[in-house]
Amino acid sequence: MKKLGEITKKILEFFLSLKDDDWVEWKATANDWQDNCDKFHECYFIVKQMPKYPQHSNCRCLLKKISKPVPNITANATCDFQKFAGYVFSDKYRDGKKEIFESWGYTIEDSAYLQKLYTAQAIEKYCNGEYEYVGTNNYSAKISIEIVLENKNGKKQLIKTIWSVGKKGEITLITPYSGHKY
Ligand SMILES: [Zn+2]
Repeated sequence: MKKLGEITKKILEFFLSLKDDDWVEWKATANDWQDNCDKFHECYFIVKQMPKYPQHSNCRCLLKKISKPVPNITANATCDFQKFAGYVFSDKYRDGKKEIFESWGYTIEDSAYLQKLYTAQAIEKYCNGEYEYVGTNNYSAKISIEIVLENKNGKKQLIKTIWSVGKKGEITLITPYSGHKY
């Protein structure tokens, strides 16, 4: 048991040596625990916005220090066109999203523009650590990113969006609008 204790101590010392702005890759070890560890496997996080580590008392996850991800080189954002054309601007969901975007001067015709704008801003912000870790869903870690959208009158809105964190720097849009400021 002494050996195991020494290993644990080394891992904790490494973790404590990390700075807030360092980046890590999460390495989970398959186990039978009903935990979230597997969801973080091979995901990149900035230390100041990462899941709780260790996750639980028998957590066997390891962290590997990596260099800051580079947009569109070592990290990528994916945003489905249908998140706008088939969801925000759809008449199927009477939840007010369409009216909000339309009040800013955007219509279904702008879906491709919004898809491009979200993708470009999100990957820059993720790689700069300008995101907030907000927990998990059934499959993955979730982060929130603020997207700046200028409405057709030139006024800027700050939109809260939710993304899932995939392996090796992949983030994917889940929620294109979960509130806005201004
Ligand atoms: Zn773990």
